[in-house]
Amino acid sequence: MMTDANRKSPRALIIGGSMAGLFSALLLRKLGWQVDVFERSSVPFSSRGAGIATHPELVTVLQSVGVDPGDALGVPIIGRCVFDSDGSLAGTFDLPQVMTSWGRLFRLLRVGLPDENYHVGVPFARLVQDHKSVTAIFTDGQSERADLLIAADGISSTVRGQLLPHIVPRYAGYVAWRGMASESDMSSVTLDALGERMGFCLPPGEHCLTYPVAGPNEELTPGARRRNFVWYRAAMSETEQAALMTNTDGERQTVSVPPREVSGDAIAVMRKDAREVLSPQVVELVDSIAEPFLQAIVDLECPQVVFGRVAILGDAAFVARPHTGMGVTKAGEDALALANALARTANIDAALSAWQQQCLAYGQRMVRRGRKLGDMVNADRIDPQGDAFGRARGVERAVMMETAVPG
Ligand SMILES: Cc1cc2nc3c(=O)[nH]c(=O)nc-3n(C[C@H](O)[C@H](O)[C@H](O)COP(=O)(O)OP(=O)(O)OC[C@H]3O[C@@H](n4cnc5c(N)ncnc54)[C@H](O)[C@@H]3O)c2cc1C
Repeated sequence: MMTDANRKSPRALIIGGSMAGLFSALLLRKLGWQVDVFERSSVPFSSRGAGIATHPELVTVLQSVGVDPGDALGVPIIGRCVFDSDGSLAGTFDLPQVMTSWGRLFRLLRVGLPDENYHVGVPFARLVQDHKSVTAIFTDGQSERADLLIAADGISSTVRGQLLPHIVPRYAGYVAWRGMASESDMSSVTLDALGERMGFCLPPGEHCLTYPVAGPNEELTPGARRRNFVWYRAAMSETEQAALMTNTDGERQTVSVPPREVSGDAIAVMRKDAREVLSPQVVELVDSIAEPFLQAIVDLECPQVVFGRVAILGDAAFVARPHTGMGVTKAGEDALALANALARTANIDAALSAWQQQCLAYGQRMVRRGRKLGDMVNADRIDPQGDAFGRARGVERAVMMETAVPG
């Protein structure tokens, strides 16, 4: 690892090598900073299969780090639709959008950072700081010193755990079943019906959606792509939560249960319920997902994101419910705002202070919007009285219009 002897340009340590970490690293390098990313995981990231809705704001951030994916960002869709449980079309809404995947974005960003500055299998443990530098100490006992530490270590952030130990994700009363299905495993009748849209299935008490994304090797040709699947389901009681969030080793998880670790019994119940309530097209899709995984839906808000020479951003700072579809875009915009603040002044402390106001306001707005959308999709199960927003507009239309669009 690098020492800090004889350095001229400022140095940043970035904890977490996913979206917020890579955006931060690339943007600070463009400003002439020395940057090193420290990622806990040593498992290849391409295995993190998840679909991501894109927005013009995300393209702007990508362009600012020198990535201009053009047509190759993902699969263009023409809009949204809702299926009734019998498979008929209940409604459509035109809204062109490009659907990408976590793996695709990761590869586009990772290629911009030299291997010697991206360290894997290096879990951050704790930090110490004085008035003008910060030292990260890793679980193997090694340490690194720099002018700035960026906490991009996600929803269960170790950095946040040290600085704001009382701030933890708050469970929202429901989970998301997630997974990817290969279009090659699905019938042409079903693929035609699903079409080039984000398709919803909204029978009473249920909320699921699916959309096409590139295949495992970036294939964009229909039939060779995958379909991202998310099914939000209430799990209010302790018994329900335990049945879902206890992994195959018997360990209770708080935030997510990854593919291959979800209990076989829970998967069997989910598949049986799918047959009873979802449209036949979506049932076929669910059946072809080999390794579904689970995510608890949470809200997370930090009251402060700057601590001396430490900046917390991305999911480590704020987590809005995924109906917003804005997590990656927000990670990029947090990083861009920080880089812009640092570009405006050589005074790092002044830049951090200015950035903090912006980051807090944006994060709070996103979390509020996520709650509002969550109330809407949960109208008839979690809070039967509380859905003024959804019911006034018709839940189906509101879901089609409001899901995964910038608020
Ligand atoms: C159901 C669902 C659907 C979603 N859909 C969308 C969507 O359509 N569009 C969208 O934009 N977003 C979506 N999101 C949100 C998006 O996935 C996240 O907002 C985004 O990944 C956040 O990026 P991040 O870099 O802040 O955190 P993460 O991606 O969580 O990365 C944190 C990184 O830090 C590493 N790390 C953790 N601890 C340590 C440590 N101690 N030391 C070193 N490294 C560490 C982790 O291994 C990880 O690589 C969705 C989320 C869910 C749950």
